[in-house]
Amino acid sequence: MVVMGIRAFRWLPYRGQRHAIPDSMAANDVGNTLCGVDVTVPHDPPPRSPDGCWPTCWSCDAAWREFEGIPAFPRPRQAGDAPRTTVGGRS
Ligand SMILES: [Zn+2]
Repeated sequence: MVVMGIRAFRWLPYRGQRHAIPDSMAANDVGNTLCGVDVTVPHDPPPRSPDGCWPTCWSCDAAWREFEGIPAFPRPRQAGDAPRTTVGGRS
């Protein structure tokens, strides 16, 4: 059972990569990314990468997938799949 629209984590550009942090973390909170990097949540949105999208931290990606039970990329498309919505991404 997958509830769409509810995410335990969110992406945070940090130190040149897009890491995942618990969605419960608010601005100025100190915690860890899913890959274990110490992070302080910035109060302002981080600057955009010159390329338009920070490279994904695959350690965070893997930890996130494991938490949600999402098979590792790539996965076969399934009927009813929602279009991928990647912020700042290109297809
Ligand atoms: Zn990470």
